[in-house]
Amino acid sequence: MLRRNDKCHCGSGKKYKNCCMEDDLNNKRQALKSVGYKNMREKSQKAYLNLYKKIFKFSENHKYDEMRDMARKVFFIMDDEKVNERFASLFTTYCLFDYYTLDGKNIALEYANLYKSNKISADDYNNAISVIASYLSIYTVVKKDLDGVVLKDEISKSEVLTYEFDVLKDIEVGESVIGRLANISGVNLLVDIIVKIPENTKDFIINDVKVVYEHNKDSYSSLVEFAMYNTYIFYRYIQQLIDVDVSNFMNDKVKSNSQTESGKDKSKSDSDIGSGSDASAKTDEKTSNTKESAKSPLESSKSSSKHEDAEKTNDKEKTDSYDGVREKLEELGDKSYSKRYDEVLGELQEKYPSYSAQTATIAAVIDYVVRNEVQGVTQKAISDIFGISASTLGKNYREVKKYIEV
Ligand SMILES: [Zn+2]
Repeated sequence: MLRRNDKCHCGSGKKYKNCCMEDDLNNKRQALKSVGYKNMREKSQKAYLNLYKKIFKFSENHKYDEMRDMARKVFFIMDDEKVNERFASLFTTYCLFDYYTLDGKNIALEYANLYKSNKISADDYNNAISVIASYLSIYTVVKKDLDGVVLKDEISKSEVLTYEFDVLKDIEVGESVIGRLANISGVNLLVDIIVKIPENTKDFIINDVKVVYEHNKDSYSSLVEFAMYNTYIFYRYIQQLIDVDVSNFMNDKVKSNSQTESGKDKSKSDSDIGSGSDASAKTDEKTSNTKESAKSPLESSKSSSKHEDAEKTNDKEKTDSYDGVREKLEELGDKSYSKRYDEVLGELQEKYPSYSAQTATIAAVIDYVVRNEVQGVTQKAISDIFGISASTLGKNYREVKKYIEV
Protein backbone atom coordinates (compact mmCIF):
# COMPACT_ATOMS: atom_id res chain seq x y z
CA MET A 1 0.00 0.00 0.00
CA LEU A 2 1.37 3.30 -1.10
CA ARG A 3 1.43 6.08 1.51
CA ARG A 4 0.70 9.74 0.78
CA ASN A 5 4.29 10.88 0.91
CA ASP A 6 5.78 7.92 -0.98
CA LYS A 7 6.98 8.39 -4.51
CA CYS A 8 4.17 7.86 -6.98
CA HIS A 9 3.84 4.51 -8.73
CA CYS A 10 3.69 6.12 -12.13
CA GLY A 11 7.37 6.93 -12.05
CA SER A 12 6.96 10.71 -12.19
CA GLY A 13 9.19 11.13 -9.16
CA LYS A 14 6.53 13.25 -7.43
CA LYS A 15 4.95 12.39 -4.09
CA TYR A 16 1.91 10.18 -4.45
CA LYS A 17 -0.39 12.79 -2.82
CA ASN A 18 0.67 15.37 -5.40
CA CYS A 19 0.38 13.02 -8.36
CA CYS A 20 -1.95 10.10 -9.08
CA MET A 21 -3.54 9.73 -5.64
CA GLU A 22 -6.70 11.70 -6.47
CA ASP A 23 -7.29 9.77 -9.70
CA ASP A 24 -6.72 6.47 -7.96
CA LEU A 25 -9.23 7.35 -5.27
CA ASN A 26 -11.78 8.42 -7.86
CA ASN A 27 -11.36 5.16 -9.71
CA LYS A 28 -11.80 3.28 -6.50
CA ARG A 29 -14.93 5.21 -5.60
CA GLN A 30 -16.26 4.62 -9.09
CA ALA A 31 -15.54 0.92 -8.88
CA LEU A 32 -17.38 0.74 -5.56
CA LYS A 33 -20.28 2.62 -7.10
CA SER A 34 -20.41 0.18 -10.00
CA VAL A 35 -20.54 -2.71 -7.60
CA GLY A 36 -23.38 -0.90 -5.84
CA TYR A 37 -25.28 -0.47 -9.11
CA LYS A 38 -24.79 -4.11 -9.97
CA ASN A 39 -26.10 -5.11 -6.58
CA MET A 40 -29.13 -2.88 -7.00
CA ARG A 41 -29.75 -4.44 -10.39
CA GLU A 42 -29.40 -7.92 -8.99
CA LYS A 43 -31.82 -7.18 -6.18
CA SER A 44 -34.32 -5.89 -8.67
CA GLN A 45 -33.87 -8.96 -10.88
CA LYS A 46 -34.41 -11.19 -7.90
CA ALA A 47 -37.58 -9.36 -6.94
CA TYR A 48 -38.84 -9.76 -10.49
CA LEU A 49 -38.14 -13.48 -10.59
CA ASN A 50 -39.84 -13.97 -7.24
CA LEU A 51 -42.86 -12.03 -8.38
CA TYR A 52 -42.95 -13.98 -11.63
CA LYS A 53 -42.89 -17.27 -9.75
CA LYS A 54 -45.65 -16.16 -7.42
CA ILE A 55 -47.93 -14.99 -10.22
CA PHE A 56 -47.15 -18.13 -12.19
CA LYS A 57 -48.19 -20.22 -9.25
CA PHE A 58 -51.29 -18.09 -8.81
CA SER A 59 -52.12 -18.68 -12.50
CA GLU A 60 -52.09 -22.45 -12.16
CA ASN A 61 -55.67 -22.29 -10.98
CA HIS A 62 -57.92 -24.10 -13.47
CA LYS A 63 -60.08 -21.07 -13.90
CA TYR A 64 -57.26 -19.58 -15.99
CA ASP A 65 -56.89 -22.55 -18.34
CA GLU A 66 -58.84 -20.90 -21.11
CA MET A 67 -56.96 -17.62 -20.70
CA ARG A 68 -53.67 -19.42 -21.12
CA ASP A 69 -54.86 -21.05 -24.33
CA MET A 70 -56.20 -17.80 -25.73
CA ALA A 71 -53.06 -15.87 -24.85
CA ARG A 72 -50.85 -18.38 -26.58
CA LYS A 73 -52.78 -17.97 -29.83
CA VAL A 74 -51.39 -14.48 -30.17
CA PHE A 75 -47.97 -15.91 -30.97
CA PHE A 76 -46.78 -17.73 -34.03
CA ILE A 77 -47.03 -21.31 -32.90
CA MET A 78 -44.84 -23.60 -34.96
CA ASP A 79 -45.27 -27.27 -35.64
CA ASP A 80 -41.92 -27.79 -34.01
CA GLU A 81 -42.42 -27.74 -30.23
CA LYS A 82 -38.70 -27.22 -29.75
CA VAL A 83 -38.99 -23.91 -31.53
CA ASN A 84 -42.02 -23.04 -29.44
CA GLU A 85 -40.10 -23.81 -26.30
CA ARG A 86 -37.66 -21.06 -27.16
CA PHE A 87 -40.51 -18.64 -26.75
CA ALA A 88 -41.99 -20.27 -23.69
CA SER A 89 -40.99 -17.48 -21.34
CA LEU A 90 -42.44 -14.89 -23.72
CA PHE A 91 -45.69 -16.83 -23.95
CA THR A 92 -45.83 -16.92 -20.18
CA THR A 93 -45.00 -13.26 -19.60
CA TYR A 94 -47.61 -12.24 -22.12
CA CYS A 95 -50.18 -14.54 -20.61
CA LEU A 96 -49.56 -13.44 -17.03
CA PHE A 97 -49.17 -9.71 -17.52
CA ASP A 98 -50.58 -8.65 -20.89
CA TYR A 99 -53.51 -10.78 -21.83
CA TYR A 100 -56.98 -9.42 -21.08
CA THR A 101 -60.24 -11.27 -21.51
CA LEU A 102 -63.12 -9.45 -23.11
CA ASP A 103 -64.45 -8.53 -19.69
CA GLY A 104 -61.10 -7.07 -18.67
CA LYS A 105 -59.63 -9.90 -16.63
CA ASN A 106 -55.86 -10.08 -16.41
CA ILE A 107 -54.01 -12.60 -14.31
CA ALA A 108 -51.39 -10.26 -12.83
CA LEU A 109 -54.08 -7.72 -12.08
CA GLU A 110 -56.11 -10.29 -10.19
CA TYR A 111 -52.97 -11.20 -8.32
CA ALA A 112 -52.28 -7.54 -7.51
CA ASN A 113 -55.80 -7.20 -6.17
CA LEU A 114 -54.88 -9.63 -3.40
CA TYR A 115 -53.11 -6.66 -1.83
CA LYS A 116 -56.49 -5.25 -0.84
CA SER A 117 -57.00 -8.21 1.45
CA ASN A 118 -53.40 -8.11 2.69
CA LYS A 119 -52.52 -11.40 1.02
CA ILE A 120 -49.47 -10.00 -0.80
CA SER A 121 -46.83 -7.46 0.14
CA ALA A 122 -46.79 -3.83 -0.96
CA ASP A 123 -43.58 -4.54 -2.90
CA ASP A 124 -45.19 -7.36 -4.84
CA TYR A 125 -48.19 -5.18 -5.49
CA ASN A 126 -46.13 -2.27 -6.78
CA ASN A 127 -43.90 -4.48 -8.89
CA ALA A 128 -46.84 -6.34 -10.40
CA ILE A 129 -48.46 -3.05 -11.37
CA SER A 130 -45.14 -1.91 -12.85
CA VAL A 131 -44.88 -4.93 -15.11
CA ILE A 132 -48.55 -4.70 -16.12
CA ALA A 133 -47.98 -1.10 -17.14
CA SER A 134 -44.72 -1.86 -18.93
CA TYR A 135 -44.47 -2.56 -22.62
CA LEU A 136 -42.01 -3.72 -25.22
CA SER A 137 -40.20 -1.11 -27.17
CA ILE A 138 -37.09 -0.50 -29.17
CA TYR A 139 -34.33 0.83 -26.94
CA THR A 140 -31.30 2.59 -28.36
CA VAL A 141 -28.17 2.82 -26.24
CA VAL A 142 -27.32 6.54 -25.94
CA LYS A 143 -24.70 6.45 -23.20
CA LYS A 144 -22.65 3.82 -21.52
CA ASP A 145 -20.30 4.44 -18.63
CA LEU A 146 -19.60 3.32 -15.11
CA ASP A 147 -22.67 5.19 -13.87
CA GLY A 148 -25.02 3.14 -15.98
CA VAL A 149 -26.43 2.51 -19.41
CA VAL A 150 -28.82 5.17 -20.68
CA LEU A 151 -31.44 3.89 -23.10
CA LYS A 152 -33.70 5.87 -25.35
CA ASP A 153 -37.18 4.43 -25.56
CA GLU A 154 -38.13 4.82 -29.24
CA ILE A 155 -41.83 4.62 -28.41
CA SER A 156 -42.02 7.23 -25.65
CA LYS A 157 -38.88 9.09 -26.83
CA SER A 158 -37.75 9.38 -23.22
CA GLU A 159 -34.37 8.37 -21.85
CA VAL A 160 -34.03 5.96 -18.98
CA LEU A 161 -31.09 5.03 -16.79
CA THR A 162 -30.44 1.34 -16.30
CA TYR A 163 -27.72 -0.73 -14.73
CA GLU A 164 -27.86 -3.39 -17.44
CA PHE A 165 -24.07 -3.49 -17.85
CA ASP A 166 -24.00 -7.24 -18.41
CA VAL A 167 -27.15 -7.69 -20.44
CA LEU A 168 -26.10 -4.92 -22.83
CA LYS A 169 -22.38 -5.57 -22.85
CA ASP A 170 -22.36 -6.43 -26.57
CA ILE A 171 -24.59 -3.54 -27.58
CA GLU A 172 -22.65 -0.42 -28.55
CA VAL A 173 -23.78 3.19 -28.23
CA GLY A 174 -26.14 3.89 -31.14
CA GLU A 175 -27.25 0.29 -31.44
CA SER A 176 -30.77 -0.87 -30.63
CA VAL A 177 -32.57 -3.78 -29.06
CA ILE A 178 -36.16 -4.86 -28.64
CA GLY A 179 -36.76 -5.29 -24.96
CA ARG A 180 -39.16 -4.78 -22.13
CA LEU A 181 -38.23 -2.36 -19.41
CA ALA A 182 -40.05 -2.34 -16.10
CA ASN A 183 -39.28 -0.51 -12.90
CA ILE A 184 -38.84 -3.21 -10.30
CA SER A 185 -38.13 -2.16 -6.73
CA GLY A 186 -36.95 1.22 -7.95
CA VAL A 187 -34.58 -0.05 -10.63
CA ASN A 188 -35.22 -0.03 -14.37
CA LEU A 189 -34.86 -3.62 -15.38
CA LEU A 190 -34.87 -5.31 -18.76
CA VAL A 191 -37.10 -8.30 -18.16
CA ASP A 192 -37.40 -11.20 -20.62
CA ILE A 193 -34.99 -11.51 -23.49
CA ILE A 194 -33.54 -8.72 -25.57
CA VAL A 195 -33.03 -8.98 -29.29
CA LYS A 196 -30.51 -6.82 -31.09
CA ILE A 197 -31.83 -5.25 -34.25
CA PRO A 198 -30.10 -3.55 -37.17
CA GLU A 199 -30.67 0.15 -37.81
CA ASN A 200 -32.86 -0.31 -40.88
CA THR A 201 -35.02 -2.89 -39.12
CA LYS A 202 -35.46 -0.50 -36.22
CA ASP A 203 -36.96 2.24 -38.39
CA PHE A 204 -39.01 -0.33 -40.22
CA ILE A 205 -40.55 -1.72 -37.05
CA ILE A 206 -41.22 1.67 -35.49
CA ASN A 207 -42.94 2.87 -38.64
CA ASP A 208 -44.91 -0.31 -38.81
CA VAL A 209 -46.12 0.04 -35.23
CA LYS A 210 -47.02 3.68 -35.86
CA VAL A 211 -49.10 2.72 -38.88
CA VAL A 212 -51.09 0.20 -36.86
CA TYR A 213 -51.44 2.78 -34.08
CA GLU A 214 -52.75 5.38 -36.55
CA HIS A 215 -55.43 2.92 -37.64
CA ASN A 216 -56.53 2.45 -34.04
CA LYS A 217 -55.90 5.93 -32.73
CA ASP A 218 -59.44 6.41 -31.47
CA SER A 219 -59.01 3.69 -28.87
CA TYR A 220 -55.82 4.94 -27.23
CA SER A 221 -54.69 8.16 -25.68
CA SER A 222 -51.10 7.80 -26.87
CA LEU A 223 -48.61 5.58 -28.65
CA VAL A 224 -47.35 4.45 -25.25
CA GLU A 225 -50.80 3.35 -24.20
CA PHE A 226 -51.15 1.52 -27.50
CA ALA A 227 -47.85 -0.25 -26.88
CA MET A 228 -49.00 -1.22 -23.39
CA TYR A 229 -52.10 -2.98 -24.67
CA ASN A 230 -50.46 -4.51 -27.69
CA THR A 231 -47.21 -5.96 -26.42
CA TYR A 232 -47.81 -9.00 -28.59
CA ILE A 233 -46.81 -6.99 -31.68
CA PHE A 234 -43.24 -6.77 -30.43
CA TYR A 235 -43.27 -10.29 -29.06
CA ARG A 236 -44.15 -11.45 -32.55
CA TYR A 237 -41.34 -9.37 -33.97
CA ILE A 238 -38.98 -11.04 -31.53
CA GLN A 239 -40.18 -14.42 -32.72
CA GLN A 240 -39.60 -13.46 -36.31
CA LEU A 241 -36.24 -11.89 -35.68
CA ILE A 242 -35.13 -15.03 -33.95
CA ASP A 243 -36.53 -16.99 -36.85
CA VAL A 244 -34.24 -15.06 -39.16
CA ASP A 245 -31.31 -16.41 -37.19
CA VAL A 246 -32.64 -19.87 -37.65
CA SER A 247 -33.34 -19.38 -41.33
CA ASN A 248 -29.90 -17.84 -41.93
CA PHE A 249 -28.42 -20.86 -40.26
CA MET A 250 -30.49 -23.09 -42.48
CA ASN A 251 -29.54 -21.05 -45.54
CA ASP A 252 -25.88 -21.46 -44.77
CA LYS A 253 -26.42 -25.17 -44.62
CA VAL A 254 -28.27 -25.16 -47.92
CA LYS A 255 -25.56 -22.95 -49.44
CA SER A 256 -22.84 -25.41 -48.64
CA ASN A 257 -24.89 -28.06 -50.43
CA SER A 258 -25.69 -26.09 -53.56
CA GLN A 259 -23.89 -22.97 -54.74
CA THR A 260 -26.42 -22.25 -57.46
CA GLU A 261 -29.06 -21.58 -54.88
CA SER A 262 -27.11 -18.84 -53.14
CA GLY A 263 -28.86 -15.99 -54.96
CA LYS A 264 -32.13 -17.44 -53.92
CA ASP A 265 -31.00 -17.83 -50.34
CA LYS A 266 -30.20 -14.17 -50.14
CA SER A 267 -33.61 -13.15 -51.35
CA LYS A 268 -35.19 -15.57 -48.92
CA SER A 269 -33.56 -14.09 -45.87
CA ASP A 270 -34.45 -10.61 -47.13
CA SER A 271 -38.04 -11.61 -47.38
CA ASP A 272 -37.90 -13.08 -43.93
CA ILE A 273 -36.86 -9.76 -42.50
CA GLY A 274 -39.68 -8.29 -44.52
CA SER A 275 -41.97 -10.72 -42.83
CA GLY A 276 -41.71 -8.36 -39.91
CA SER A 277 -44.23 -6.41 -41.90
CA ASP A 278 -45.91 -9.65 -42.65
CA ALA A 279 -46.53 -9.85 -38.96
CA SER A 280 -48.13 -6.48 -39.01
CA ALA A 281 -50.32 -7.40 -41.93
CA LYS A 282 -51.60 -10.15 -39.71
CA THR A 283 -51.37 -7.69 -36.88
CA ASP A 284 -53.86 -5.42 -38.60
CA GLU A 285 -56.65 -7.86 -38.04
CA LYS A 286 -55.33 -9.16 -34.76
CA THR A 287 -55.00 -5.65 -33.39
CA SER A 288 -58.70 -5.08 -33.34
CA ASN A 289 -58.91 -8.31 -31.44
CA THR A 290 -56.50 -7.34 -28.70
CA LYS A 291 -57.56 -3.74 -28.78
CA GLU A 292 -61.11 -4.65 -27.99
CA SER A 293 -60.23 -7.15 -25.38
CA ALA A 294 -57.41 -5.16 -23.83
CA LYS A 295 -58.40 -2.89 -21.02
CA SER A 296 -56.16 -0.70 -19.08
CA PRO A 297 -55.57 -1.82 -15.54
CA LEU A 298 -56.40 1.71 -14.59
CA GLU A 299 -59.43 1.66 -16.74
CA SER A 300 -60.99 -1.71 -16.27
CA SER A 301 -63.60 -0.42 -13.86
CA LYS A 302 -64.86 2.40 -16.06
CA SER A 303 -64.84 0.78 -19.43
CA SER A 304 -68.45 -0.04 -20.02
CA SER A 305 -68.64 1.61 -23.43
CA LYS A 306 -65.54 -0.15 -24.67
CA HIS A 307 -67.01 -3.31 -23.27
CA GLU A 308 -70.00 -2.98 -25.60
CA ASP A 309 -67.69 -2.66 -28.57
CA ALA A 310 -65.97 -5.78 -27.45
CA GLU A 311 -69.26 -7.67 -27.30
CA LYS A 312 -70.10 -6.57 -30.80
CA THR A 313 -66.92 -7.89 -32.32
CA ASN A 314 -66.82 -10.90 -30.10
CA ASP A 315 -68.45 -13.29 -32.56
CA LYS A 316 -66.34 -12.18 -35.47
CA GLU A 317 -63.08 -12.31 -33.58
CA LYS A 318 -63.70 -15.76 -32.27
CA THR A 319 -63.73 -17.34 -35.72
CA ASP A 320 -60.82 -19.58 -36.53
CA SER A 321 -58.32 -18.38 -39.12
CA TYR A 322 -59.48 -20.97 -41.63
CA ASP A 323 -63.18 -20.25 -41.21
CA GLY A 324 -64.75 -18.90 -44.35
CA VAL A 325 -61.76 -19.75 -46.53
CA ARG A 326 -63.60 -22.48 -48.38
CA GLU A 327 -66.53 -20.12 -49.04
CA LYS A 328 -64.15 -17.48 -50.34
CA LEU A 329 -62.63 -20.01 -52.73
CA GLU A 330 -66.11 -21.05 -53.85
CA GLU A 331 -66.90 -17.42 -54.51
CA LEU A 332 -63.71 -16.20 -56.16
CA GLY A 333 -61.65 -19.24 -57.08
CA ASP A 334 -61.78 -21.39 -60.19
CA LYS A 335 -64.54 -23.97 -59.65
CA SER A 336 -62.73 -26.67 -61.59
CA TYR A 337 -60.05 -26.92 -58.87
CA SER A 338 -62.50 -27.44 -56.05
CA LYS A 339 -61.17 -30.84 -55.04
CA ARG A 340 -57.56 -29.69 -55.07
CA TYR A 341 -58.51 -26.64 -52.96
CA ASP A 342 -59.83 -28.97 -50.28
CA GLU A 343 -56.64 -31.00 -50.30
CA VAL A 344 -54.38 -27.96 -49.95
CA LEU A 345 -56.62 -26.36 -47.33
CA GLY A 346 -56.67 -29.63 -45.39
CA GLU A 347 -52.91 -29.95 -45.56
CA LEU A 348 -52.44 -26.39 -44.40
CA GLN A 349 -54.84 -26.78 -41.48
CA GLU A 350 -53.08 -29.90 -40.40
CA LYS A 351 -49.49 -28.72 -40.68
CA TYR A 352 -49.86 -25.04 -39.87
CA PRO A 353 -52.82 -24.77 -37.52
CA SER A 354 -51.64 -21.47 -36.04
CA TYR A 355 -51.52 -19.67 -39.37
CA SER A 356 -53.54 -16.52 -39.14
CA ALA A 357 -54.24 -14.05 -41.90
CA GLN A 358 -57.33 -12.51 -43.35
CA THR A 359 -59.75 -14.96 -44.92
CA ALA A 360 -59.23 -13.51 -48.40
CA THR A 361 -55.46 -13.81 -48.02
CA ILE A 362 -55.56 -17.47 -47.03
CA ALA A 363 -57.98 -18.21 -49.85
CA ALA A 364 -55.78 -16.34 -52.32
CA VAL A 365 -52.71 -18.28 -51.21
CA ILE A 366 -54.50 -21.59 -51.75
CA ASP A 367 -55.83 -20.48 -55.12
CA TYR A 368 -52.35 -19.37 -56.14
CA VAL A 369 -50.76 -22.63 -55.02
CA VAL A 370 -53.27 -24.70 -56.95
CA ARG A 371 -53.42 -22.66 -60.13
CA ASN A 372 -49.68 -22.22 -60.19
CA GLU A 373 -49.32 -25.98 -60.21
CA VAL A 374 -51.17 -26.26 -63.48
CA GLN A 375 -50.97 -22.96 -65.32
CA GLY A 376 -48.18 -20.80 -63.91
CA VAL A 377 -50.44 -17.90 -63.01
CA THR A 378 -49.01 -14.61 -61.68
CA GLN A 379 -49.40 -13.47 -58.09
CA LYS A 380 -50.73 -10.18 -59.36
CA ALA A 381 -53.59 -11.87 -61.19
CA ILE A 382 -54.64 -13.86 -58.12
CA SER A 383 -54.27 -10.98 -55.70
CA ASP A 384 -56.47 -8.78 -57.91
CA ILE A 385 -59.22 -11.39 -57.87
CA PHE A 386 -59.14 -11.68 -54.06
CA GLY A 387 -58.73 -7.98 -53.48
CA ILE A 388 -55.42 -8.10 -51.60
CA SER A 389 -52.02 -6.70 -52.50
CA ALA A 390 -49.60 -8.80 -54.55
CA SER A 391 -46.91 -8.33 -51.91
CA THR A 392 -49.22 -9.62 -49.17
CA LEU A 393 -49.92 -12.65 -51.31
CA GLY A 394 -46.20 -13.09 -51.99
CA LYS A 395 -45.27 -12.91 -48.32
CA ASN A 396 -48.04 -15.26 -47.24
CA TYR A 397 -47.16 -17.67 -50.01
CA ARG A 398 -43.52 -17.80 -48.87
CA GLU A 399 -44.77 -18.31 -45.33
CA VAL A 400 -47.09 -21.24 -46.04
CA LYS A 401 -44.76 -22.80 -48.61
CA LYS A 402 -42.74 -24.09 -45.67
CA TYR A 403 -45.70 -26.17 -44.56
CA ILE A 404 -47.33 -27.45 -47.70
CA GLU A 405 -46.00 -29.61 -50.49
CA VAL A 406 -46.04 -27.61 -53.66
ZN1 LIG B 1 1.71 9.56 -10.53
